[in-house]
Amino acid sequence: MINNNVLPNYINGQWTASSATEYLAVINPATAKLLAQVPLSPASEVNQAAEAAATAFVTWRRTPPTERVQYLFKLKNLLEENFADLSRTITLECGKTLAESQGEMRRAIENVEVACGIPMMMQGTNLEDVARGIDETMIRQPLGVAAVICPFNFPGMIPFWFLPYAIACGNTYIIKPSEKVPLTMQKIVQLLERTGLPKGVVNLVNGAKAAVDAILDHPKIRAISFVGSTPVAKYIYSRGAANGKRLQCLGGAKNPIIILPDADVEMTTRIIADSAFGCAGQRCLAASIAVTVGEARHSFTDAIAETAKKRIVGNGLDQGVEMGPVITAQSKTRIEELIQQGREEGANLLVDGRYPKISGYEQGNFIRPTILQNVDRVGKIARTEIFGPVLSLIHLDSIDDAIALVNSGQYGNMACLFTSSGAASRKFRYEAEAGNIGINIGVAAPMAFFPFSGWKESFFGDLHGQSNHAVEFFTQTKVVVERWPSDWSRQF
Ligand code: NAD
Repeated sequence: MINNNVLPNYINGQWTASSATEYLAVINPATAKLLAQVPLSPASEVNQAAEAAATAFVTWRRTPPTERVQYLFKLKNLLEENFADLSRTITLECGKTLAESQGEMRRAIENVEVACGIPMMMQGTNLEDVARGIDETMIRQPLGVAAVICPFNFPGMIPFWFLPYAIACGNTYIIKPSEKVPLTMQKIVQLLERTGLPKGVVNLVNGAKAAVDAILDHPKIRAISFVGSTPVAKYIYSRGAANGKRLQCLGGAKNPIIILPDADVEMTTRIIADSAFGCAGQRCLAASIAVTVGEARHSFTDAIAETAKKRIVGNGLDQGVEMGPVITAQSKTRIEELIQQGREEGANLLVDGRYPKISGYEQGNFIRPTILQNVDRVGKIARTEIFGPVLSLIHLDSIDDAIALVNSGQYGNMACLFTSSGAASRKFRYEAEAGNIGINIGVAAPMAFFPFSGWKESFFGDLHGQSNHAVEFFTQTKVVVERWPSDWSRQF
């Protein structure tokens, strides 16, 4: 069904209706109300965007970096002015609480702020007299057209791990938002348009697999950033690499948190509950397995169960709500099935959050915080990314066993330790195989001025998003070696 609510694409500075023949409904996950229809744009529309971006690149790369970042300064101001509306839009389409959406937009804006420093960050290096009378200079130049393929869980923030750096470095850009949450990016691109950015520098193409495949195959798209699940990350990485593209593909996760007996129980419980149940567990840095060591078992288990039961679940727009719904009805069913599977693998369902009744929101995709105790450490539940508000508890006897469990996982996005021991922290930081480490921190989210690391099957590529890694990803180095014999100048 098509109605007036069909979202347009933004190609070459024009908002244009897609020629798509298929549309998906964008649904508010708390109310099940229809918000919009998103077109599944065909390859031809990605091709138009790529051609427009390639044309725009000719002039954009010659625009001085100091001028390019003026658009980012304007964007920063527009994002601040529209902060409330953007945060509300994230909650409407994604379900997280308003406070979580505000946090997300703050992190997005911080990336714009960091990218305003490109005139310094993009500088190269040089050395005189690499041999007698010969100087060498390393210059960074933009690549050309780059694209981002986004997941559903941070519609406002994730594109900003890449976009501001890409355009500030002189590249032109294509955004493919998640088809589940395309509204936030519509609004952000409207703000980008208001900065006066030249046409074709940023393009927006809505869609799903056909649009992604067209991005992967277009010869003029030089670099692709992907964030999403690991199977799709692997697909993007291999098909994109076969086509000679530069790639950074951020995948899924299964984040373990270790609690030592000397951890402060009150603080640990509060922080781990926020990590496991914040954003309804739909964060790539959500705590998914809590591993208690020794005596931590009893105190932590009781405390986290109490905290989980008390969490206020509802529409993220309502005041006092601490956790919203999961993204779709299918996602809710999948999570409920995984909880059941955990029981079948022998776990005790300590807190059962399935099938809640949320007054006024009976159609919403709600699951309350859930805790599975004594989870089989080699079973499916201990290995599968649930991406919902489900925490698995495992008990072990030593920190060595706990670190071995952390390192046996296929993912390596984040691992955390709760302790008051500096020596234990140092050992953990040194030995844990994950790209983001938290010590007495539940969501080790790197700020915009650090790269967002990720190891093993949580990341495919080399250079990460944000900060100096983003600058390296969006530029290619050129080395110039020069000899200017001094007697040549005598001719003039
Ligand atoms: P997803 O993999 O289903 O979709 C991500 C994007 O890929 C979407 O734009 C979608 O249109 C596209 N896509 C999906 N299937 C495709 C296919 N077969 N071929 C081509 N394109 C396809 O992920 P999601 O459900 O939107 O997001 C949740 C996942 O993202 C979780 O696994 C989460 O851990 C991960 N994630 C990772 C990070 C990180 O930093 N590592 C951050 C956020 C989310």
